Amino acid sequence: MRHDEPTWTPPPKAPGQEPPRQMRRILRLFRPYRGRLALVGLLVCAASLVSVATPFLLKEILDTAIPQGRTGLLSLLALGMILSAVVTSVFGVLQTLISTSVGQRVMHDLRTAVYGRLQSMSLAFFTRTRTGEVQSRIANDIGGMQATVTSTATSLVSNLTSVIATIVAMLALDWRLTVVSLLLLPVFVWISRRVGRERKKIATQRQKQMAAMAATVTESLSVSGIVLGRTMGRADSLTESFAGESERLVDLEIRSNMAGRWRMAVISIVMAAMPAVIYWSAGLAFQMGGPTVSIGTLVAFVSLQQGLFRPTVSLLSTGVQIQTSLALFQRIFEYLDLDVDITEPENPVRLDRIKGEVRFEDVEFRYDEKSAPTLQGIDVTIPAGGSLAVVGPTGSGKSTLSHLVPRLYDVTGGRVTLDGVDVRDLDFDTLARAVGVVSQETYLFHASVADNLRFAKPDATDEELAAAARAAQIHDHIASLPDGYDTVVGERGHRFSGGEKQRLAIARTILRDPPVLILDEATSALDTRTERAVQEAIDALSADRTTVTIAHRLSTVRGADQIVVLDGGRTAERGTHEELMERDGRYAALVRRDAQLEPAT
Ligand code: ADP
Repeated sequence: MRHDEPTWTPPPKAPGQEPPRQMRRILRLFRPYRGRLALVGLLVCAASLVSVATPFLLKEILDTAIPQGRTGLLSLLALGMILSAVVTSVFGVLQTLISTSVGQRVMHDLRTAVYGRLQSMSLAFFTRTRTGEVQSRIANDIGGMQATVTSTATSLVSNLTSVIATIVAMLALDWRLTVVSLLLLPVFVWISRRVGRERKKIATQRQKQMAAMAATVTESLSVSGIVLGRTMGRADSLTESFAGESERLVDLEIRSNMAGRWRMAVISIVMAAMPAVIYWSAGLAFQMGGPTVSIGTLVAFVSLQQGLFRPTVSLLSTGVQIQTSLALFQRIFEYLDLDVDITEPENPVRLDRIKGEVRFEDVEFRYDEKSAPTLQGIDVTIPAGGSLAVVGPTGSGKSTLSHLVPRLYDVTGGRVTLDGVDVRDLDFDTLARAVGVVSQETYLFHASVADNLRFAKPDATDEELAAAARAAQIHDHIASLPDGYDTVVGERGHRFSGGEKQRLAIARTILRDPPVLILDEATSALDTRTERAVQEAIDALSADRTTVTIAHRLSTVRGADQIVVLDGGRTAERGTHEELMERDGRYAALVRRDAQLEPAT
């Protein structure tokens, strides 16, 4: 698979994002900081004006103070030059401080906004999007804006003021020399632009290449990636393909650096050549009996003119930089513009006391508008405190059904209610308090056991943690570890076995104490002892709660108040274990098959 092909493409509503509009949107990001930016602008203008004054002081020194031997004036003018240097530098430092802090604030705002937006995206988004892609946008793209948001705006103002002030000053000194020196400017602009375009192209490629490399790393250098690579004997070929990605980056980096070098060389040549041209043309004009220019004017002019080129070049490259980062902003805005498909209603219903009656009313669900429904005509009521077991072949829609209660997905037809209220009308907090999920894929953070448990209840006391862990049959194990509850869980719970991780997850849910529990029962082959421990933990957890169990082992569903057999997304049968056995339909067949497969149970 080629890595630079994005797996997720933005909705095709982008045409409205033409540069001017995007520019306005970028400017809006800076609005909260306009006071500080105005101060930066003031500092910048002041610094340019002060620095433009220096050549005039120089002219006075050369033309008046020295020839006329006026020591007092000479000292004053020299002091003025020193002061101007000091003021320019101090203003420069202040301006960098303020503009960097504004830029970093803007980046922080963007990062937080993107993260927040992604937090509210539904599961569907994350199943569609490559993991590395999301990380790359938050890290690389926002990181790539750094130069633009911290310094571009200021350098734009600073260079523009410098250029204008310098040209005005040059004109004031001698308009003819100004014309001569500006004659070469267009050539210079042209060269610079060419190099700029080239740089921009390379920079875009480099950004893509970096994202591709980052995605490869996140995908292959994770626990699961390593396991897959090793067991498939692909470690070497993965290293090889990574080397290929890295190689491409080497090439791009060299090219982008070289493009800069050429420009630098051109700049130095022109800068070195310009004074010569000025002296030459002034000398020539003098010899041919043209207008004479005083030595002071000539020197002051050359020093002004040398100060003109740096800001001009910067101004040109600023344009290129802005264009480059427009692409980055575009990528970030795409994320900010994602439609949040799971939203809280305007006036959400808040339930303080949740009883826990869950009802599926003629529920239909499609993963994709165009595809066939994954679930259809599901009508089930689970009274508060009751239990439902969902069984059926793989792919029949069991997990999907369980995702609809906590609104990991929203139904596409019918409704799911909690205590008679459509879950889509509830406020997120009520829903989160109401529904707990223990899934097969236990996810633990890279943090201590205690922190992982406290994720469910930040203010839980140590005693509460221990009690929950005891109920989940995992306390003794945790206590036997050298660091006890402070033991750090490795990447995705690496140090704990599957059964232990499950029990940690169960303890976490016990702490949360939700009235409704969704249990995606483990299919992973646990040894009998572990399985029993996990089962006891589950029993402790499900007591007195409304429970929806996705049952993979029929041995565990016998006790359920109600069993629903799904087939192809429809309810094939429903009833208690006894009723269904009596009916001698699908369920009975499944039970018989199961009994043959697992004679031990
Ligand atoms: P079960 O839990 O019974 O094994 P699932 O609910 O996981 O079944 O899946 C039901 C059907 O929905 C399957 O055909 C599966 O391929 C499909 N499906 C599951 N998740 C997605 C998804 N994110 N996007 C599209 N189809 C999906």
